[in-house]
Amino acid sequence: MKVGVHVEGYDHLIFHSLLAKLLLLPEDTIDIDRVGAIGLGWHQVLETLPKALMRFRGKACALAVIGIDNDGTADLVATGNQEASEHPRHWLHATRHPNCRHCQLEAVVAATRQSRLGWDATIARWPIVIAVPVEAIEAWLLVIQAILGVGGSLRAERERRQGMKQCVYGRPEATREDIERITLPQIRALTKEQLLLARSHCQSLKIFAAQVEAFRQQQENGAP
Ligand SMILES: [Zn+2]
Repeated sequence: MKVGVHVEGYDHLIFHSLLAKLLLLPEDTIDIDRVGAIGLGWHQVLETLPKALMRFRGKACALAVIGIDNDGTADLVATGNQEASEHPRHWLHATRHPNCRHCQLEAVVAATRQSRLGWDATIARWPIVIAVPVEAIEAWLLVIQAILGVGGSLRAERERRQGMKQCVYGRPEATREDIERITLPQIRALTKEQLLLARSHCQSLKIFAAQVEAFRQQQENGAP
């Protein structure tokens, strides 16, 4: 299965492993077409998204995944707040929020679908998954580590983002080798029950996983 992934840095490796877990497929049956770069900022993600989606569409990807960290800096455990207003959390608002990254990505996805409908009617139902880890993908990894009993933190999604890479990798930045050596084996080790537990402790992971599972259900039901 070909999957287009538009993410920062080496995050495509993490998404590859998570997708395999959630789709119940061996990793080597998922062929990742990656768009992204080290240091790709939020505004660049928004700008390059329509082009990336059309590239994935042109390559007949069965699924597209768009990932960008929420990037808030608040320590909600310390402040007791629900969220920081400049980096809102998608699950805390019922209608579109102007500052929410998930909502903004949804709007670009909808506009891209709309602009292409004239010559590709099937694009309206082409599956596109939006992943906005809160506040960073390392929070997902810390929750997974806690569930595996190898450090981490079950409440990482509410903790301060700074220092998370240090906790996960033992250094302030992760190399590709760090991810392959530390993170991927941990994701691969998760049982189905442990992954469900991770989702229950991490709302942004839960939102991502639900979209991927909806896609899996569509596939199983014979969707085109
Ligand atoms: Zn939102």
